[in-house]
Amino acid sequence: MTETSLELPCGYEHNGTVIRDAEIRRMKGRVQRDIAELSGKKKTDPAEILEAVLRPSWVGLGGQKVTKIHLLGALLADRDFLLFEMVKVLRGNVVSMTEECPKCEETFEIFDINLAELPVTRLEDDSDWWGPQGLVKAADVVGLGPGERSQLECRVFVLENEELGASAVFRYPRGKEQRQVSSLAEKPIEVMWKLMSLTCLSWKCPDHDLPQTPKGGLKMTFWDDVDYLVLEWLEEAFSAAQPGVDSSLQADCPNSECQHSYKTQVRALDFLFRKPQKER
Ligand SMILES: [Zn+2]
Repeated sequence: MTETSLELPCGYEHNGTVIRDAEIRRMKGRVQRDIAELSGKKKTDPAEILEAVLRPSWVGLGGQKVTKIHLLGALLADRDFLLFEMVKVLRGNVVSMTEECPKCEETFEIFDINLAELPVTRLEDDSDWWGPQGLVKAADVVGLGPGERSQLECRVFVLENEELGASAVFRYPRGKEQRQVSSLAEKPIEVMWKLMSLTCLSWKCPDHDLPQTPKGGLKMTFWDDVDYLVLEWLEEAFSAAQPGVDSSLQADCPNSECQHSYKTQVRALDFLFRKPQKER
């Protein structure tokens, strides 16, 4: 069987309903060639590679054919989830990954990673922030009038910290935004700031209020003037609020002089396209 049905953890929003049924197809040789070409470029763009995999492989959404609009409109969390599902279809659930210790640069293998055991956070349809009531609630927080609520046809989440007196409303990042931050992939902080800039709908903190952010998002420099403690809290809360696959993994450097223990990530793209392994 080459086609697999699955359920998206977040779902695609269309005219006020959420579509979760999706179908993927095992990749063909052509995809391997496209990825190889993209990976050979001087500057590889992870979002571009991800789309090169998903475009021919994610074939169905609620019984319809998947188009570019779906690909860009799908939540980042669902796109990542689909990528992990693609890996499972192609390689099975249990994989090994080559890792490089960030401290001593020793390379080693992490064996027996079970992809089926990675935790997946779903967005439920009955969430407070979803459905017509949720939109009214979100519009109130953002300060939109009844006529402007259609701007909010997407899922949003609210982050609040009473102690710091800060609160913010964000939309969940989509493929569109993932594409815009992709070129910054080497700089994780910038990726997060940019994602926050593109998805922030409203922002309140003691000396810095912005009831409604401009269309097209905030400037990156906006965060430069935000209080350090507020930003520290926000970065953590923003990452923690993201649904989808939690791909973090504990790594222990085997070099006896280093023994560095750290958190790394299961990189789905690495498995789609790998060299034959030696017997272990
Ligand atoms: Zn090490």
